Amino acid sequence: MIGECKRLYIMNTIRIGFGYDVHRLVSGCALILGGVKIPHPYGLLGHSDADVITHALCDAILGAAALGDLGRHFPDSDPRYAGISSIKLLEEVVQKIASSGWKLGNADITLVAQAPKIVPFVTEMEKNISDACRVSADQINIKATTTEGLGFTGTGEGMAAYAVVTIIKWHQ
Ligand code: MG
Repeated sequence: MIGECKRLYIMNTIRIGFGYDVHRLVSGCALILGGVKIPHPYGLLGHSDADVITHALCDAILGAAALGDLGRHFPDSDPRYAGISSIKLLEEVVQKIASSGWKLGNADITLVAQAPKIVPFVTEMEKNISDACRVSADQINIKATTTEGLGFTGTGEGMAAYAVVTIIKWHQ
């Protein structure tokens, strides 16, 4: 029995990562969440497309692999990343962890926003993210909550997102 447990232990390593991101809502910007353009009077302001869901996810994945954060790999002072799709950044993040033998296990992401309702767009977001991460859509969960009108997300000044992930490394 002890031998069996040891054998299972050396077959894979699992790590957990956490990410958090905030962007300001302004008029005159497109609202991009999970790689989907969502009809809304306001969009998120940022150097890239300011996709707060994808940024939180990238930070969680990098954190799990002990590879720092999104800003370290893609600094907002670098003109190459101006207006870039965050889904492309996510693809690069997944490649970075893959080069160390890690693969995404699952991701659970929470958007904090008073509006709009994202339910009609969640399936497409999960598809964009699972494609970028090279996993199946049932390994990605995106959900949303309001803050009942409280704080900067409640007043519509901005949106926040939290992400928790597992990453897995398989051993021979
Ligand atoms: Mg960000």
